[in-house]
Amino acid sequence: ATVLAIETSCDETAVAIVKNREVSSNVVSSQIAVHQQYGGVVPEVASRSHLEVMDGAIAQALAEAELSWSDIDGIAATCTPGLVGALLVGLTAGKTLAMLHQKPFLGIHHLEGHLYASYLTEPSLEPPFICLLVSGGHTSLIDVQDSGIYETLGQTRDDAAGEAFDKVARLLKLGYPGGPIIDRLAKSGNPKAFKLPEGKIGLPEGGYHPYDTSFSGLKTAVLRLVEKLKATGEELPVNDIAASFQDTVARALSKRAIACARDRHRDTIVIGGGVAANSALRQHLLADAAPHNLRVLFPPLKYCTDNAAMIACAAADRLNRGDRSPLTLGAQSRMALTDAHQLYLGNSN
Ligand code: ATP
Ligand code: FE
Ligand code: MG
Repeated sequence: ATVLAIETSCDETAVAIVKNREVSSNVVSSQIAVHQQYGGVVPEVASRSHLEVMDGAIAQALAEAELSWSDIDGIAATCTPGLVGALLVGLTAGKTLAMLHQKPFLGIHHLEGHLYASYLTEPSLEPPFICLLVSGGHTSLIDVQDSGIYETLGQTRDDAAGEAFDKVARLLKLGYPGGPIIDRLAKSGNPKAFKLPEGKIGLPEGGYHPYDTSFSGLKTAVLRLVEKLKATGEELPVNDIAASFQDTVARALSKRAIACARDRHRDTIVIGGGVAANSALRQHLLADAAPHNLRVLFPPLKYCTDNAAMIACAAADRLNRGDRSPLTLGAQSRMALTDAHQLYLGNSN
């Protein structure tokens, strides 16, 4: 099926057209510059910006794909999780277009979109596989048992991986968003310069949770380290701090993803979300996977961060399986990925 999808869960206004797993157009209008002056995303500003560029982005997606409405089999929009005001802009646009052009409508779970990013460059990919979702708001390890059938094996107990990057960048006064900046500075830093806590989750019966993560302790440890180093009066070794922090996050995530794949006997690990762009995470995962003959798939950068092509790809798969959402579907700030089937009428799982 050919799907036009709209993504407005946060600060990217995105519209794309995808035929099953093949991208026909992928328009992303980023608001990063608008929010940078505030050091983070301002929800009201995000909603208004989505509204301002929505019509143009839809027209551009159709024009770049050289398609008209008669070529579109279904319309999709991200409906959860995210900023409700921001989600509502894309969701309302999608539902209106579906009504106007009499096409089936599908609301899509944003994390299902991140999970589908790998299909765009690896069209032969099929479940089962393990997905490591690492974004600005989420950090989860998911066993993808079949299309649309998920089991969450592990997740963060506090900050998401991307959130940790952004917070550490802020305390180092590096700017927003922090991930790409820390990644760049770490290239000329020593990842072994400082020993930082990985954030293991202790279990009441002893030992540690094999898949869950915690990053708030790590963030605090970086803060303490910075305070201690500042007290010496010498120049802050920002690159070494960035490299040590990044390496700690990458090691923690890689170890847990490999454990999931081995324990569940899956041969493939798929990465999704903005932090999938991180170079240390890529290096650690590839090195750790090799001895176990595990395949690791990283989507290219443009499909790692928020985009509508991944949403359209997830929607095309659902449309092919007969899923439809009611036009009364609302936006929700939170929803577990394992509840995504609730977004559809009757049919499938
Ligand atoms: P969610 O998908 O959970 O709603 P989000 O959509 O805001 O959150 P994404 O757009 O997937 O998250 O990713 C943005 C996050 O990725 C930011 O926290 C950013 O710092 C981080 N990020 C981007 N590039 C890198 C990188 N190279 N290294 C580490 N983190 C990165
Ligand atoms: Fe996202
Ligand atoms: Mg984003």
